[in-house]
Amino acid sequence: MSTLIRFENVTLGYEGQPVIKDLNFEVNEGDYLCVIGENGSGKSTMMKALLGFLTPMSGTIYKDKKLKNAIGYLPQQQPSQADFPASVKEVVLSGCQGRKKIFSFYSAADRKLAERNIEKMNIGHLKNRSFRELSGGQKQRALLARAMCAAEDLMLLDEPVSGLDPTATVDLYKTIEQLNRDGMTVIMITHDIGHVTDAASHVLKLGHTMLFFGTAEEYRENAGKEGI
Ligand code: ADP
Repeated sequence: MSTLIRFENVTLGYEGQPVIKDLNFEVNEGDYLCVIGENGSGKSTMMKALLGFLTPMSGTIYKDKKLKNAIGYLPQQQPSQADFPASVKEVVLSGCQGRKKIFSFYSAADRKLAERNIEKMNIGHLKNRSFRELSGGQKQRALLARAMCAAEDLMLLDEPVSGLDPTATVDLYKTIEQLNRDGMTVIMITHDIGHVTDAASHVLKLGHTMLFFGTAEEYRENAGKEGI
Protein backbone atom coordinates (compact mmCIF):
# COMPACT_ATOMS: atom_id res chain seq x y z
CA MET A 1 0.00 0.00 0.00
CA SER A 2 1.51 3.28 -0.98
CA THR A 3 1.42 6.36 1.20
CA LEU A 4 -0.80 9.12 -0.16
CA ILE A 5 -0.31 11.69 2.59
CA ARG A 6 2.18 12.20 5.37
CA PHE A 7 2.24 15.02 7.93
CA GLU A 8 5.65 15.36 9.58
CA ASN A 9 5.83 17.61 12.66
CA VAL A 10 3.33 19.97 11.11
CA THR A 11 2.25 23.08 12.99
CA LEU A 12 -0.64 25.07 11.55
CA GLY A 13 -2.04 28.44 12.47
CA TYR A 14 -3.19 31.84 11.35
CA GLU A 15 -1.23 35.11 11.35
CA GLY A 16 1.65 33.64 13.29
CA GLN A 17 -0.57 32.10 15.98
CA PRO A 18 -0.45 28.29 16.04
CA VAL A 19 -3.79 26.51 16.48
CA ILE A 20 -2.53 22.96 16.12
CA LYS A 21 0.97 21.75 16.86
CA ASP A 22 3.15 18.78 15.94
CA LEU A 23 0.86 16.79 13.70
CA ASN A 24 2.30 13.44 12.66
CA PHE A 25 0.21 10.97 10.75
CA GLU A 26 -0.05 9.24 7.42
CA VAL A 27 -2.76 8.02 5.13
CA ASN A 28 -2.21 5.02 2.89
CA GLU A 29 -4.13 3.96 -0.16
CA GLY A 30 -7.44 2.37 0.80
CA ASP A 31 -7.56 3.81 4.34
CA TYR A 32 -10.68 5.22 5.92
CA LEU A 33 -9.48 7.85 8.38
CA CYS A 34 -11.91 9.51 10.78
CA VAL A 35 -10.80 12.83 12.25
CA ILE A 36 -12.38 13.65 15.58
CA GLY A 37 -11.98 16.29 18.30
CA GLU A 38 -13.83 19.06 20.08
CA ASN A 39 -15.02 22.14 18.25
CA GLY A 40 -12.10 24.45 17.65
CA SER A 41 -9.53 21.66 17.96
CA GLY A 42 -8.19 22.25 14.44
CA LYS A 43 -9.96 19.66 12.29
CA SER A 44 -10.98 22.07 9.54
CA THR A 45 -7.61 23.77 9.73
CA MET A 46 -5.93 20.41 9.06
CA MET A 47 -8.25 19.86 6.07
CA LYS A 48 -7.37 23.31 4.70
CA ALA A 49 -3.69 22.42 4.89
CA LEU A 50 -4.38 19.10 3.18
CA LEU A 51 -6.17 20.86 0.35
CA GLY A 52 -3.27 23.30 0.02
CA PHE A 53 -5.22 26.37 1.18
CA LEU A 54 -3.01 26.89 4.21
CA THR A 55 0.80 26.72 4.36
CA PRO A 56 2.25 25.07 7.49
CA MET A 57 4.08 27.33 9.95
CA SER A 58 6.57 24.48 10.28
CA GLY A 59 6.93 20.85 9.31
CA THR A 60 6.27 19.09 6.03
CA ILE A 61 3.17 17.82 4.30
CA TYR A 62 3.99 15.10 1.79
CA LYS A 63 1.35 14.42 -0.86
CA ASP A 64 1.69 11.72 -3.48
CA LYS A 65 2.01 13.20 -6.96
CA LYS A 66 -1.05 11.36 -8.17
CA LEU A 67 -3.23 13.43 -5.82
CA LYS A 68 -2.61 16.52 -7.91
CA ASN A 69 -6.06 17.68 -9.10
CA ALA A 70 -7.58 14.46 -7.88
CA ILE A 71 -8.90 15.18 -4.39
CA GLY A 72 -12.66 15.21 -3.96
CA TYR A 73 -14.02 17.46 -1.25
CA LEU A 74 -17.46 17.53 0.32
CA PRO A 75 -17.43 20.65 2.51
CA GLN A 76 -19.60 21.16 5.54
CA GLN A 77 -23.14 21.92 4.43
CA GLN A 78 -23.61 25.61 3.85
CA PRO A 79 -27.10 27.11 3.67
CA SER A 80 -26.25 28.46 0.22
CA GLN A 81 -25.74 24.92 -1.07
CA ALA A 82 -29.40 24.27 -0.49
CA ASP A 83 -30.19 26.78 -3.17
CA PHE A 84 -28.32 25.78 -6.33
CA PRO A 85 -30.77 26.86 -9.05
CA ALA A 86 -29.74 23.95 -11.26
CA SER A 87 -30.70 20.37 -11.99
CA VAL A 88 -29.05 17.50 -10.13
CA LYS A 89 -27.31 16.52 -13.38
CA GLU A 90 -25.81 19.98 -13.77
CA VAL A 91 -24.69 20.13 -10.16
CA VAL A 92 -22.93 16.76 -10.49
CA LEU A 93 -21.39 17.70 -13.83
CA SER A 94 -19.96 20.90 -12.32
CA GLY A 95 -17.62 18.61 -10.36
CA CYS A 96 -15.77 18.07 -13.64
CA GLN A 97 -14.79 21.77 -13.76
CA GLY A 98 -11.30 21.06 -12.54
CA ARG A 99 -10.73 18.64 -15.39
CA LYS A 100 -11.65 20.88 -18.28
CA LYS A 101 -9.65 23.66 -19.83
CA ILE A 102 -10.88 27.16 -19.13
CA PHE A 103 -13.68 28.21 -21.51
CA SER A 104 -14.07 24.75 -22.97
CA PHE A 105 -17.37 22.88 -22.72
CA TYR A 106 -17.82 19.64 -20.84
CA SER A 107 -16.55 16.69 -22.84
CA ALA A 108 -18.43 13.48 -23.57
CA ALA A 109 -16.13 11.78 -21.06
CA ASP A 110 -17.13 14.34 -18.39
CA ARG A 111 -20.80 13.64 -19.04
CA LYS A 112 -20.22 9.90 -18.86
CA LEU A 113 -18.36 10.25 -15.58
CA ALA A 114 -21.14 12.42 -14.11
CA GLU A 115 -23.72 9.87 -15.26
CA ARG A 116 -21.73 7.01 -13.71
CA ASN A 117 -21.41 8.80 -10.37
CA ILE A 118 -25.13 9.64 -10.37
CA GLU A 119 -25.83 5.93 -10.74
CA LYS A 120 -23.30 4.99 -8.05
CA MET A 121 -25.04 7.35 -5.63
CA ASN A 122 -28.48 5.89 -6.52
CA ILE A 123 -29.91 9.22 -7.59
CA GLY A 124 -30.53 8.34 -11.24
CA HIS A 125 -34.27 8.89 -10.76
CA LEU A 126 -33.58 12.42 -9.52
CA LYS A 127 -31.16 13.62 -12.15
CA ASN A 128 -33.53 16.00 -13.92
CA ARG A 129 -34.98 17.39 -10.71
CA SER A 130 -34.05 20.79 -9.37
CA PHE A 131 -31.29 20.41 -6.78
CA ARG A 132 -32.97 22.74 -4.32
CA GLU A 133 -36.08 20.55 -4.16
CA LEU A 134 -34.18 17.50 -2.86
CA SER A 135 -34.19 16.27 0.73
CA GLY A 136 -31.08 16.78 2.86
CA GLY A 137 -29.88 13.21 2.28
CA GLN A 138 -30.50 13.40 -1.47
CA LYS A 139 -28.59 16.70 -1.63
CA GLN A 140 -25.61 15.12 0.11
CA ARG A 141 -25.67 12.23 -2.38
CA ALA A 142 -25.73 14.67 -5.26
CA LEU A 143 -22.84 16.65 -3.76
CA LEU A 144 -20.94 13.44 -3.14
CA ALA A 145 -21.47 12.44 -6.79
CA ARG A 146 -20.17 15.90 -7.73
CA ALA A 147 -17.08 15.50 -5.53
CA MET A 148 -16.50 12.07 -7.09
CA CYS A 149 -16.16 13.73 -10.50
CA ALA A 150 -13.07 15.46 -9.14
CA ALA A 151 -11.74 12.62 -6.99
CA GLU A 152 -9.84 9.72 -8.33
CA ASP A 153 -7.93 8.63 -5.29
CA LEU A 154 -8.97 10.61 -2.24
CA MET A 155 -12.23 11.93 -0.83
CA LEU A 156 -12.37 14.46 2.00
CA LEU A 157 -15.64 14.76 3.85
CA ASP A 158 -16.38 17.41 6.46
CA GLU A 159 -19.21 16.24 8.75
CA PRO A 160 -21.22 14.83 5.85
CA VAL A 161 -24.19 13.69 7.94
CA SER A 162 -24.79 16.85 9.96
CA GLY A 163 -28.44 17.82 9.73
CA LEU A 164 -29.56 14.49 8.25
CA ASP A 165 -32.24 12.32 9.84
CA PRO A 166 -31.18 8.89 11.23
CA THR A 167 -32.24 6.93 8.12
CA ALA A 168 -30.49 9.28 5.71
CA THR A 169 -27.44 9.19 8.01
CA VAL A 170 -27.22 5.38 7.92
CA ASP A 171 -27.73 5.40 4.14
CA LEU A 172 -25.00 7.97 3.54
CA TYR A 173 -22.55 6.12 5.80
CA LYS A 174 -23.23 2.90 3.90
CA THR A 175 -22.57 4.70 0.63
CA ILE A 176 -19.30 6.11 1.93
CA GLU A 177 -18.22 2.67 3.17
CA GLN A 178 -19.01 1.19 -0.23
CA LEU A 179 -17.00 3.95 -1.90
CA ASN A 180 -14.10 3.03 0.35
CA ARG A 181 -14.47 -0.70 -0.38
CA ASP A 182 -14.43 0.15 -4.09
CA GLY A 183 -10.96 1.61 -3.59
CA MET A 184 -11.42 5.27 -2.67
CA THR A 185 -9.31 6.49 0.24
CA VAL A 186 -11.53 8.46 2.61
CA ILE A 187 -10.76 11.13 5.21
CA MET A 188 -13.79 12.24 7.17
CA ILE A 189 -14.29 14.79 9.92
CA THR A 190 -17.06 13.57 12.19
CA HIS A 191 -18.60 14.02 15.61
CA ASP A 192 -20.10 10.59 15.46
CA ILE A 193 -17.90 8.40 17.64
CA GLY A 194 -20.15 5.36 17.15
CA HIS A 195 -19.53 5.45 13.43
CA VAL A 196 -15.82 5.94 13.96
CA THR A 197 -15.46 2.69 15.78
CA ASP A 198 -17.66 0.81 13.29
CA ALA A 199 -16.35 1.83 9.93
CA ALA A 200 -13.01 3.60 10.12
CA SER A 201 -9.69 1.88 9.55
CA HIS A 202 -7.81 4.68 11.34
CA VAL A 203 -8.57 7.48 13.80
CA LEU A 204 -6.93 10.87 14.26
CA LYS A 205 -8.00 12.76 17.36
CA LEU A 206 -7.09 16.43 17.61
CA GLY A 207 -7.10 18.88 20.49
CA HIS A 208 -4.72 21.71 19.54
CA THR A 209 -2.15 18.96 19.31
CA MET A 210 -2.35 15.36 18.17
CA LEU A 211 -4.09 13.39 20.94
CA PHE A 212 -4.22 10.09 19.11
CA PHE A 213 -3.34 8.53 15.79
CA GLY A 214 -3.62 4.84 15.09
CA THR A 215 -5.88 2.10 13.84
CA ALA A 216 -9.54 2.06 14.81
CA GLU A 217 -8.83 -1.07 16.84
CA GLU A 218 -6.10 0.70 18.81
CA TYR A 219 -8.47 3.61 19.31
CA ARG A 220 -11.17 1.31 20.73
CA GLU A 221 -8.64 -0.17 23.15
CA ASN A 222 -7.41 3.23 24.30
CA ALA A 223 -10.52 5.43 24.21
CA GLY A 224 -11.16 6.96 27.59
CA LYS A 225 -7.50 6.74 28.69
CA GLU A 226 -5.32 9.81 29.16
CA GLY A 227 -7.50 12.25 27.27
CA ILE A 228 -8.06 9.98 24.26
P1 ADP B 1 -12.57 22.58 14.19
O1 ADP B 1 -12.73 22.31 12.73
O2 ADP B 1 -11.94 21.44 14.94
O3 ADP B 1 -13.84 23.03 14.85
P2 ADP B 1 -11.01 24.85 13.31
O4 ADP B 1 -9.90 24.26 12.52
O5 ADP B 1 -12.18 25.42 12.54
O6 ADP B 1 -11.54 23.78 14.36
O7 ADP B 1 -10.46 25.99 14.24
C1 ADP B 1 -9.30 25.85 15.07
C2 ADP B 1 -8.96 27.21 15.66
O8 ADP B 1 -8.49 28.05 14.61
C3 ADP B 1 -10.12 27.92 16.32
O9 ADP B 1 -9.64 28.54 17.50
C4 ADP B 1 -10.54 28.95 15.30
O10 ADP B 1 -11.06 30.10 15.92
C5 ADP B 1 -9.21 29.27 14.59
N1 ADP B 1 -9.42 29.68 13.20
C6 ADP B 1 -10.06 28.98 12.25
N2 ADP B 1 -10.04 29.63 11.06
C7 ADP B 1 -9.36 30.79 11.28
C8 ADP B 1 -9.00 31.89 10.45
N3 ADP B 1 -9.32 31.93 9.16
N4 ADP B 1 -8.28 32.91 11.03
C9 ADP B 1 -7.96 32.86 12.34
N5 ADP B 1 -8.27 31.84 13.17
C10 ADP B 1 -8.97 30.82 12.66
